[in-house]
Amino acid sequence: MRILLAEDDPSIAEGICSSLRQGGHAVDHVASGSLADTALRDHEYDLLVLDLGLPQLDGTEVLKRLRSRGAGMPVLVVTARDGLPERIRVLDLGADDYLVKPFALSEFEARVRALLRRASSRGVPELQLGRLRLDLPGHRAWIDETALELTAREFGLLEALALRPDRVTSRAQLIEALCDWDQELTDNGLDIAIHRLRRKLHGSGTGVRTIRGLGYLLEEAEAADGDLE
Ligand code: CA
Repeated sequence: MRILLAEDDPSIAEGICSSLRQGGHAVDHVASGSLADTALRDHEYDLLVLDLGLPQLDGTEVLKRLRSRGAGMPVLVVTARDGLPERIRVLDLGADDYLVKPFALSEFEARVRALLRRASSRGVPELQLGRLRLDLPGHRAWIDETALELTAREFGLLEALALRPDRVTSRAQLIEALCDWDQELTDNGLDIAIHRLRRKLHGSGTGVRTIRGLGYLLEEAEAADGDLE
């Protein structure tokens, strides 16, 4: 999943970034409200983690603008402002959850998992495609009862394809889903990840089909053996 973190305190941001990355997510970090607003217009995110006290543009204004554009992505507010009226105001503006600083990273991680679970699969934490089963918040996948050994990138790739069943996903969309600003994924790197994923899906009845010039499709087929071309 790709997450935007808007937080101006460097040490809090560092802790949150590393926790989310360890969880296999791609994280973009901005330290001002105006940069958050720009990033939200320019990129697609699965979750926004939003501090309220941000320079240039307050977090509540970022949230207001986001919802006024009709964006429905989940928003987790993390802030030191813990008054009841403030909490109610932020929830009414469209935040999905609210965490008061200081907080335990384990609680933060649990709330992120809950929000992503609700958003990514509309309440269903698992996706089933033929014999392939994905636990989205847990980052695990199985063929029948056999767990697949996937790297964070391979799981991200499989998830990005599985969330768009019967639709072609372009290379640009895959790179957008897999990378944050601090990482680079070259064309070559994407090819390698696809190649490895195909090898691991071999024999599963589900394969990654190449649609020449357009992108990729996760497909369940009699003949699918993980390396459809
Ligand atoms: Ca702040």
